[in-house]
Amino acid sequence: MQFVVLTLFPELLESFGNHGIIRRAVELQKISLKTIQIRDFAEGRHRVTDDRPYGGGPGMVMKPEPIARALQAASMEAPDALKIHLTPQGRPFSHTIAGELAQKKGLILLCGRYEGIDERIGDGFIDDEISIGDYILTGGEIAAMVVIDAVSRFIPGVLGCADSCEDDSFSKRLLEHAHYTRPYEFNGEAVPEILLSGDHQRVKHWRLLSSMIRTLLKRKDLLFRRLLTHEELDILQDFQKDIQSILEYQRQAQNNGRNDQ
Ligand code: SAM
Repeated sequence: MQFVVLTLFPELLESFGNHGIIRRAVELQKISLKTIQIRDFAEGRHRVTDDRPYGGGPGMVMKPEPIARALQAASMEAPDALKIHLTPQGRPFSHTIAGELAQKKGLILLCGRYEGIDERIGDGFIDDEISIGDYILTGGEIAAMVVIDAVSRFIPGVLGCADSCEDDSFSKRLLEHAHYTRPYEFNGEAVPEILLSGDHQRVKHWRLLSSMIRTLLKRKDLLFRRLLTHEELDILQDFQKDIQSILEYQRQAQNNGRNDQ
């Protein structure tokens, strides 16, 4: 997978490409990461890349010509790549979109600055628009890093066994189970005994239980998005029975005028 990032601040991407899994993926040639300085394609002694908005108003707008030329250069670098404009007005990025983008041969990621880019860099220049969330960043570089990071995780061989993404939150449309490492006891709290049992089936079931309860408490919307397995449904029914019996106990206690708290 070829990533080419068009930016006014290529140095922001340097440290990102030089650390951790992304660095290893580059070294293993699973991905390549190149930046293109948009300013190199601007004209004149000062290589100006922005100008005041027509119609007035605050801020500056990125000029279309340097971007068009930079996109052309990027397409020569990565001819089969999808051209994506990072913008808060794009479609919301997600685990599913990351998986889809990972199927492409390459991604050219256009990062805006200031008030954004001239509207005429639209259809014909760009294939897709992506937002990483409903908030405004000062530039598209962080968004580009988010996309590169999430997409790279889907590329075979990028994650080693130790960093496997199979159980990650969202891959099964559930949040991932709780994790523990040494020490056995921390802050008065011990690791759940079942994780030390060596019984893989019970550990697997406990993890599913942990996953279900986290999803129910933090992101119950995910439980409406796909059909649950029999095991997952059984877990939900057990939660329901437990909650039911607590409610019944409490109702009776209140009726009897008791207060067991
Ligand atoms: N005036 C623009 C608007 O309201 O849509 C926002 C411009 S923003 C200050 C500057 C640049 O940051 C954008 O051109 C875009 O490349 C990037 N950016 C900001 N927020 C983003 C987001 N949520 N997702 C992706 N890119 C974003």
